[in-house]
Amino acid sequence: MTVIDGEAVAAELRSELQSRVDELADAGERPTLATVLMSPDPASETYVEMKQQDCEELGIVTRDVELPTDAPGEELFTAIDELNADPEVDGVLVQAPVPDHVDYRRVVERIDPLKDVDAFHPENVGRLVAGYPRYKPCTPHGIQRLLAAAEVDPAGKHAVVVGRSRIVGRPMANLLVQKAAGGNATTTVCHSRTEDLASQTRQADILVAAAGVPELIDGAMLSPGVVVIDVGINRVEADTEKGYELVGDVEFESARETASAITPVPGGVGPMTRAMLLYNTVKATALQADVEIELP
Ligand code: NDP
Repeated sequence: MTVIDGEAVAAELRSELQSRVDELADAGERPTLATVLMSPDPASETYVEMKQQDCEELGIVTRDVELPTDAPGEELFTAIDELNADPEVDGVLVQAPVPDHVDYRRVVERIDPLKDVDAFHPENVGRLVAGYPRYKPCTPHGIQRLLAAAEVDPAGKHAVVVGRSRIVGRPMANLLVQKAAGGNATTTVCHSRTEDLASQTRQADILVAAAGVPELIDGAMLSPGVVVIDVGINRVEADTEKGYELVGDVEFESARETASAITPVPGGVGPMTRAMLLYNTVKATALQADVEIELP
């Protein structure tokens, strides 16, 4: 049984990306990511700081735009327009969630698709579904990379994705079903209306759990040899200093008895999600500057 080390795979990718940032610098291009924060969730500030720190470690320049949560939505749209128009900015990321009085869909649609490093804009979603992705969304792309690093080829396998969210489940299924490297899986998508989830998960050669329900899936719901990718990050009360601990959507201890490989929480998918944002920023820079670099 292998515990797939997301930290290690992400570290290797970051080091590869570092050399692409250097190549771009030699060509006179400094990758620049703008983060926009207007979130009612206090955790968002930490997420943005982590993203900025990841960038700075690689020499990616960051721009920090912060708006008060009670600002009119138009202020956010104007900020996005300015970043779209700024030739020095390569990527624009608006940290979700935005306050209720702002229509998140309009926010996503406002970002220049070429600067859409989250890959949430309908043009980028459409390209992915159509089979010629420009940017891939960070979490599913990171998972695809993790599988490759663990030498798990989805081709011909039965992949079961639990969750159909816009940012994880559905794009994950789209990537797995693509007629392309890292795809070619027979793919099932489960959600909260799926009847008898266990009968579906037991058919999985590859299980991607992205439901956001602590330890929803245990070893009894898996078949021997399955590769388990646990996307869930759930805070549950625990007798620790912080008063909580993080658990995945999979019950690790029972699942590891049955699985051939499994990602831990934390230290599995999370670091890959962070690394793929750097990947998309580097790609966005190369695309917009028209500099040819070979991405890792
Ligand atoms: P959402 O809440 O947006 O989506 C959850 C999905 O799971 C929905 O499609 C929902 O179904 C489905 N679901 C919920 N309960 C069940 C159930 N009992 N059985 C089957 N399906 C169920 O979550 P996200 O996709 O944004 O995130 C999922 C998890 O992944 C969260 O824990 C989140 O914190 C984590 N996450 C981790 C990341 C990382 O980098 N590691 C990145 C992003 C997210 P329905 O559509 O019917 O409501």
